Amino acid sequence: MYAVGIDVGGTAIKIGLFEKNGRLVDKKEIPTRHENNCEFVFSDMAEAVKEVLKNNSVKKKNVSGIGIGMPGPVVNNVVQHCVNLGWQNKIDAAGITEKLTGIKTVVLNDADAAGYGELWQGSAKSYKNVVLVTIGTGVGGAVINNGVLIEGFGGSAGEIGHMTVEMNSKRHCNCGKNGCLETYASATGIVRTAEELLDSGEKSVLTKENLTARDIFDAAKNGDNVALKTVDVFGKYLGMALANIAVVTNPEIILLSGGVAYAGEIITDIVKKYFDVFAFKSVKNTEIKIASLKNEAGIYGAAYTTLS
Ligand SMILES: [Zn+2]
Repeated sequence: MYAVGIDVGGTAIKIGLFEKNGRLVDKKEIPTRHENNCEFVFSDMAEAVKEVLKNNSVKKKNVSGIGIGMPGPVVNNVVQHCVNLGWQNKIDAAGITEKLTGIKTVVLNDADAAGYGELWQGSAKSYKNVVLVTIGTGVGGAVINNGVLIEGFGGSAGEIGHMTVEMNSKRHCNCGKNGCLETYASATGIVRTAEELLDSGEKSVLTKENLTARDIFDAAKNGDNVALKTVDVFGKYLGMALANIAVVTNPEIILLSGGVAYAGEIITDIVKKYFDVFAFKSVKNTEIKIASLKNEAGIYGAAYTTLS
């Protein structure tokens, strides 16, 4: 038996073909076409799935299903909205895909898919209580309790990026609020912190032009003052948010995932430092690690949901 896992992102759609035991047999990546509010996403995806099955001589009847991770809240296989793809309204992503492919389809939030992926074949393989935080352009999350994902009443459980971490903040978030974790701990938030420090006249090898989170972590590793202060601000807010999450969900392990997390030890060191400062005594021993499946976690997790 095989399973197909798909990860729909703002720039690319990743497709993976898996064996039931978790082996990734083949993968394919196609661009996300943004014409007419991404109306071709489903037809492009269906064509790519057919091609992958054909190339590997896998018949439809030997596929347990297609799992799709989508960048938005999902309730009962229905995407509620997708800001990145320009979808304001509910979309029956599973129904549309089933019609186009003739294969049973399950849809879930992309960060949730990544959480399941790590639980199935990644860093959380031997765990049941897991919090995964994705740190990229935005901040997302997945909370898994006793092996089961917590979706919440309206599919918004685990929207870690929109926890308010600063009450009087002037940092405006895409969601409409001020002071969300995402405005401090995402790649965009990190750059903003460094820019503010540079504006205040602090000396640094960094300049505001084309500044990225990666430049900042590289400079921090070389001891740059502004970069180090920026990393400290990032760690303080993320560490505090994770400590608060830990006291609500009491996970065994917290995994840091997404582009920013792969800066490595500098990230885990600073997050652990502040987690320890803010965590309640009985959750201080929570493990904090970098997720191992990197940008493939989503396709693993999406495929996994069709097998369970
Ligand atoms: Zn927000």
